[in-house]
Amino acid sequence: MRTVTVVGASLAGLYAARELRAQGFDGRLVIVGEEPHPPYDRPPLSKDFLTGRAGEGRLALCDAEETRELGAEWLLGVRAAGLDAQARTVLLEDGRAVCGDGVVIATGARARRLPGPRLAGVHTLRTLDDARCLRADLLRGPQRVVVIGGGFIGAETASSCIALGHHVTVVEAAPLPLLPQLGPELASVCAELQCRGGARLFTGVGVAELLGAPCTGSAEPAADGPHANAPRVMGVVLRDGRTLPADVVVVGIGAVPNTDWLSGSTTAVRDGVRCDDGVLCDDGCVTALPQIVAVGDVARVGGARAEHWTSATAQPRVAVRNLLAGRTVERADPLPYFWSDQYGSRIQFAGRRREGDLVRIVEGSPRDGRFLAHYERDGITTAVLALDMPRPFTKIRRELARAETRDPAPAPAKAPVPVMGAVGGS
Ligand code: FAD
Repeated sequence: MRTVTVVGASLAGLYAARELRAQGFDGRLVIVGEEPHPPYDRPPLSKDFLTGRAGEGRLALCDAEETRELGAEWLLGVRAAGLDAQARTVLLEDGRAVCGDGVVIATGARARRLPGPRLAGVHTLRTLDDARCLRADLLRGPQRVVVIGGGFIGAETASSCIALGHHVTVVEAAPLPLLPQLGPELASVCAELQCRGGARLFTGVGVAELLGAPCTGSAEPAADGPHANAPRVMGVVLRDGRTLPADVVVVGIGAVPNTDWLSGSTTAVRDGVRCDDGVLCDDGCVTALPQIVAVGDVARVGGARAEHWTSATAQPRVAVRNLLAGRTVERADPLPYFWSDQYGSRIQFAGRRREGDLVRIVEGSPRDGRFLAHYERDGITTAVLALDMPRPFTKIRRELARAETRDPAPAPAKAPVPVMGAVGGS
């Protein structure tokens, strides 16, 4: 291969670029990114960045020296608009085309939005620009914040808003936040964490609409970014008829994989780059064309799509190995793992929980705010969740990963992978 194009200049794209060089690819490397920013880390956006404990300098994923060493051509601030899969040519929105021999698709996901007109004061949290706008809005003084969606990003954002002195209500459509990911026992523990942390939690009720203030003609502060001149949000109407007054609304109802640039591209689809809740790949991250691989949040690998930092950093090694080999020679099936920092606690989860797995607290207790729980099936641990117990958690996580290496899970038996973001809040 003489030219490889990486589409998506964030976590998985950067790791793929690193792997290409580490595995001996010394040809032309082009990295295309829609955002104008060099790769940055998203997890701090809902945590330390929002509270002000970490500035933008702490988000960078690579420094100037590494950027130089990678020897890549960075095309930032330009969106890929299509892919001619047979010719491995990436078509850019500005009319340019990057011809190559291999393509790594790493376009991640975007925040799901609520339908309806845009209102100032309504935010999603996926990008640095989103986080900048939200933070600026939150710095206007104590306000009534409604977070729609009680998943990890919703809970982390709620926790950060409380730390900043706001009055926070979380609305969750499911009977409990994180129910599909954690099951009822441990989802209720996480819900309690939110209530103890100071959030008002409304569950089992969706959102009917957002109320905007009548337009006065006066512009809203620039903090609201592109919607500066839109009417400002003033409330959230729930499906049961109640209205929650709101000065700021954060919509945390999950993410949608960024495949529209591919699905609009008939040649990509015709030639085998298929999309269905992500780019369809075999379990080695390879699409139907061996010269095109996908990694990170956008990739549906062996039937499952993960939205975890660890998957986005683990898949590129295998994807690049397979790309350079010209066929699938290795599976990318790391044990799912994610963490979440909220209300002063760290939640960690690893494994493949399935509906009906038994939950056993093996250390500590939810009452004390520190515990380690196993999910078990037929006496075998399938997954583990910890609250502020990093050491025992890491030990069992390693054991689970080792057990999987010895005895890999057959693909069809794979449990749905827990995702970041929320179960639908609307
Ligand atoms: P992304 O980070 O989404 O990057 C994709 C990039 O591709 C973006 O820059 C996008 O602009 C670009 N792009 C999209 N379309 C195009 C196009 N057509 N052309 C060119 N470029 C394009 N995970 C955890 O495990 N633990 C956490 O605590 C955690 N916290 C999180 C907190 C927040 C606020 C968010 C948003 C995510 C969090 N995650 C967490 C998830 C983790 O950050 C993601 O799994 C990870 O960012 C995925 O990386 P990625 O490179 O696949 O996708």
